Amino acid sequence: MQCPAHNNTKEIKKILIANRGEIATRIIKTARRLGIPTVAIYSDVDVNAPFVHQADEAIHIPGTHCHHTYINIEKVIQAAHTSGADAIHPGYGFLSENAVFARQVENLGITFIGPSADSIDIMGDKIKAKNFAVATGINVVPGFVGSIDSTEHIKDIIATTGLPVIIKATAGGGGKGMRIVYDIDRVLEAITTVRNEAKKSFGDDRVFIEKFIENPRHIEIQIAADKYGNIVCLGERECSIQRFNQKVIEESPSPCLDKITRQKMYDQSIKLVAACNYHSVGTVEFIMGPDQQFYFLEMNTRLQVEHTVTEYVTKMDLVELMIHLSQGKALPITQEEVSINGWAIETRICAEDPAKKFLPSIGRITQYTEPTIGENVRVDSGVTRGSEISPFYDAMIGKLITFGSTRNEAIKNMRQALGEFVIEGIATNLNLLEHIMHHDSFVSGDFSTGFMQKEYPNGFKGSANSEQYNKVFLLYAVAIYLSNNIRLYALDAGSHASLLGDITILIDNKQHHEIQLVQYSAEQITIKYQGETITYSHDYKPGKQVIRGTTNAFTIPTVKIKYLDRGYQLSSGGVSMEVSVFQQHIAQLLPYVNLEKSKIATDRLLSPISGIIVKIKVEKGMTVATGQELLVIEAMKMENTIYSETDTVIKEIAVKEGAVVAQGDPLLLYS
Ligand code: ADP
Ligand code: ADP
Ligand code: MG
Repeated sequence: MQCPAHNNTKEIKKILIANRGEIATRIIKTARRLGIPTVAIYSDVDVNAPFVHQADEAIHIPGTHCHHTYINIEKVIQAAHTSGADAIHPGYGFLSENAVFARQVENLGITFIGPSADSIDIMGDKIKAKNFAVATGINVVPGFVGSIDSTEHIKDIIATTGLPVIIKATAGGGGKGMRIVYDIDRVLEAITTVRNEAKKSFGDDRVFIEKFIENPRHIEIQIAADKYGNIVCLGERECSIQRFNQKVIEESPSPCLDKITRQKMYDQSIKLVAACNYHSVGTVEFIMGPDQQFYFLEMNTRLQVEHTVTEYVTKMDLVELMIHLSQGKALPITQEEVSINGWAIETRICAEDPAKKFLPSIGRITQYTEPTIGENVRVDSGVTRGSEISPFYDAMIGKLITFGSTRNEAIKNMRQALGEFVIEGIATNLNLLEHIMHHDSFVSGDFSTGFMQKEYPNGFKGSANSEQYNKVFLLYAVAIYLSNNIRLYALDAGSHASLLGDITILIDNKQHHEIQLVQYSAEQITIKYQGETITYSHDYKPGKQVIRGTTNAFTIPTVKIKYLDRGYQLSSGGVSMEVSVFQQHIAQLLPYVNLEKSKIATDRLLSPISGIIVKIKVEKGMTVATGQELLVIEAMKMENTIYSETDTVIKEIAVKEGAVVAQGDPLLLYS
């Protein structure tokens, strides 16, 4: 139902963005298209961040920690006054679900681009939201909301929920503040732990207990509502690929939802949103068991990280819609007019090292090239070449989104785009994301929220060498080697006919592969390898970071190149290898060369990241084994466990709990 035009609307003239990184950039893009000037706020470390330069104005809020900057209500509001902004977009995270902030903004006559403070009050708090959902007649996860202090009480609760259960902090978010318990005797202990953590992280120690739904899927409904009672659902998003309860890959539509269940989720979402007088975009999150039974989890009263996939399949701009609704205008579409076409997938690109159990990666981005493969690829990035990744904020530095008319097409585009995305200088999860895009369970759509834990329990070090990739890497290694050498020979004004003949390629400093170079030109090469003659062409030019090629018989996968002191690191589809190419006369000398990399100092442990020491798990004189937990360092809002890389004895502990350490600082001395 569409309401007639209303005249109690208020045009927005200037938007202050109370956020940073990719989402600030994202909001600026739409505001600019709509002709609305923007104001960025930035902390000390963000002075050179892209969003600061993209905004029409930028206001520095001195300090680094978000308590002094991005979530400091007083300073954010002061910045709005200084710049004359008449609206604030909070993005996600930070102040986006802070009712106190929203109310203060409203009271000052500034437009909060989001729902009313009252709706945030009800829905931003997990306990209030759950109680409200129960009262509205929505399916919620069985559990108990209230204070639990005796073992008897726990037994009563578990009699109805069964085990396992999950203990959650009501103020938690972004996957933080929850713990799963499988054993009835450990419930009380878990409640205390979550309570303490919540008090520390969120300043609010309320917790509740819920049945833990096993092997579930996370499915959420995007809604939009205006102030006149109109509500539409803009499809669902599947967000089951998660790590530590935080989303990593999202898609729309969901590969597992049938029409009837989707409609039931729509009906419940609309009922809930109508009951709390919600107006803006918002998301109703559900958890769904393998039996297709679904339960309300929480509502996110803000723009969501993964709104991009909805934008692709609905062809709508959700930031524009938020601005439109916050001006008091009616929804521009009815449910019948919402049409969902094609398939979109988002991968979250994080500054973290999957090979080191996802330790956040800090430092300067030395190379940065986004994939460019047309209208079916979108990059929402917060960084560029030269950006400094600090330990103070989230590890997510950008998002890659692809579209296709079918799910398979969207996956194919994602594989290609990830394969072309070059980020060097810091570690990222690009390789792992590419590997997931080739994983059978992901491709078949048959997975649950346990996928990452099951498939990558210890992180991801690059997948095993496979015959298929060996050949791909050999072909490209020859192409890169030739292109670089032809150039050298050309500089020398000499002939390069001598490149023909036998060459040896060394993979990962171990495997030798003998190849005969039969013929070559700038674009086409013929080699003989293991009795087979292969002719192929490629697009490599010296210095390029991505190479593509074809043979008569097949398309060779795109490969990323990282230049090493000797040779190249080639990676594709989550597989990575170091290759070096030698002409025959040099290859003969290889048995006399020590190819092992020099070992790093083993008499001490240097901090791999900057952060705060929150726990020391070893003592002076203790014997530790490889893989044992040594300390916990908090950085990028994550508690990161540092594991021993050797078997050794602790001679000295160089830091104390609570100390702030910089990357490279000594933490432990070994005997
Ligand atoms: P979405 O629900 O949009 O998929 P997430 O749950 O990943 O997004 O959270 C969005 C962002 O907000 C992330 O950067 C997350 O770390 C942050 N965030 C959300 N809630 C909180 C909170 N209560 N405390 C700290 N960070 C939060
Ligand atoms: P956050 O505010 O961190 O987003 P949510 O309540 O939305 O918190 O939960 C985040 C994730 O944790 C869910 O997507 C799901 O994977 C997992 N989870 C939460 N509650 C349950 C539950 N009762 N059973 C199973 N998994 C759950
Ligand atoms: Mg959630």
